[in-house]
Amino acid sequence: MTKTLVSSVNKLYIDGKWEEASSRETIPVYNPATGEVIAEVASANAKDAEQAIHAARQAFDKGPWRDVSAYGRAELLYKLANKIENHRDELARLETENNGKTLRESFGDIDFTVRTFKYYAGLAAAPNGETIEADAPLTSKVVREPIGVCGQIIPWNYPLLMAAWKLAPALAAGNVCILKPSELTPLTAIRLFEFIDETGFPPGVVNLLVGFGPQAGQPLVESPLVDKIGFTGGTVTGKTILQHAVGNLKKVSLELGGKSPNIIFADADFESAVDYAMFAIFNNSGQVCSAGSRLLVEQSIYEAFVEELVKRTKKIRVGNGFDEHSQMGPLISQKQMQKVLNYIKIGIDEGAEIAVGGNRLTDEERKNGYFIEPTIFVNVDPKSRIAQEEIFGPVLCVMPFETEEEALELANGTPYGLAAGIFTTDGAKAERAAKGIRAGVTWINTYEQNLIEGPWGGYKQSGLGRELGTYGLEEYTEVKQIINNLNVEPTGWFN
Ligand code: NAD
Repeated sequence: MTKTLVSSVNKLYIDGKWEEASSRETIPVYNPATGEVIAEVASANAKDAEQAIHAARQAFDKGPWRDVSAYGRAELLYKLANKIENHRDELARLETENNGKTLRESFGDIDFTVRTFKYYAGLAAAPNGETIEADAPLTSKVVREPIGVCGQIIPWNYPLLMAAWKLAPALAAGNVCILKPSELTPLTAIRLFEFIDETGFPPGVVNLLVGFGPQAGQPLVESPLVDKIGFTGGTVTGKTILQHAVGNLKKVSLELGGKSPNIIFADADFESAVDYAMFAIFNNSGQVCSAGSRLLVEQSIYEAFVEELVKRTKKIRVGNGFDEHSQMGPLISQKQMQKVLNYIKIGIDEGAEIAVGGNRLTDEERKNGYFIEPTIFVNVDPKSRIAQEEIFGPVLCVMPFETEEEALELANGTPYGLAAGIFTTDGAKAERAAKGIRAGVTWINTYEQNLIEGPWGGYKQSGLGRELGTYGLEEYTEVKQIINNLNVEPTGWFN
């Protein structure tokens, strides 16, 4: 593990200081490629959460943060982005060690993290209000103000990037934050907070609580002193969060799961459609909220498409993310691997047929890690569990369709609505499909290409609110209207 983490690895960052958790308890952190414990991190509880909330409250209500100008906030965010950029190699390695993803994937994450902080640094001082033409002698202006103390709870699939998606817009808008990373992947977040410490944010403005969800995260959700919760994670956890947040009606934004369709029309560019279909499901070992896990292929090309897909999937090299030959890393944990293997069994029991994959990899090199083969199911009933539920692993369900109408019906036929892909060379058909799909992000002739500058989030049970772009900034603001009377005379109403 990186040497620099040694002093703070088992600590929390509260009120500008590194401290051990009050219980002194720790949580083991694993390398999913080897099954080895690589660190022991702090396990925060409600007492630590209370301390962090108090520090954040002070920083927001009384501290100097409210007086830091937008330019000042932008400078801090730029400084932080530059530190991350200067440690690109180290952070990518740490991410691969803790999460298992290939180094190539980790480098992509770090670059996107830097871009996120820079983008929101740029937005910090952007115009953020409007004027409304009121009846004279009144004037009206609308301003956006920070919400206050934000609890931010994130998952393990993009550990550093998710931290950036939460912290950057919130801080740019002038809020104070308490970040709770996943207990499975806290290491890059801890390193990030070492940089935050060096950057010069006032104490209490950015705090880090490492720990389990119910112990460290839930107290943030329940606290009447927290004004907003930004959450990314599973849909079931998201619903629990919403229930626990009701006490003070805090603002809640939720980025949840998906079961995204990727539609391949017969007139698509065959070569790139196959290529993207694989990227959509096997990138990051399928542990992607927007993974194209349901591949809908027009009947006339179905057989040829599946044949090519299977042929290429067999060649995917699964292995340790540090090995430059690896194209797909392990799953995050023993538990996640079991969950995915269990879904594969459910699929078989439901009558679907495995076209390729389906097993754990247990050879000498991979037996201690959580590696499973990239897996493709055919003959899948669209109503079956493997076609309806988020598996969150490298498991693809392929289903044929005959007409555009049927494709859209299948595409919209789950409780989720995060993303969708459409492959066709017919521009009008692509637009019709994009309009017909109930999802927050639709890609035409591409998949999983993401913009920091555009909105990200789900329809239906894939979430509430939007991250990224100006939409993501607005999620961290309250709207205030200021009405001014330019003619200060009595109304005479009660004369
Ligand atoms: P998870 O819901 O198990 O955990 C997410 C976070 O919530 C973790 O930090 C966890 O400790 C915390 N948590 C758990 N229970 C809690 C509670 N009762 N109160 C407060 N916090 C609690 O999800 P995961 O397994 O870490 O991540 C996988 C899920 O995340 C998938 O469903 C995936 O689709 C989703 N995800 C969505 C997006 C998106 O942008 N929509 C992005 C990434 C991941």
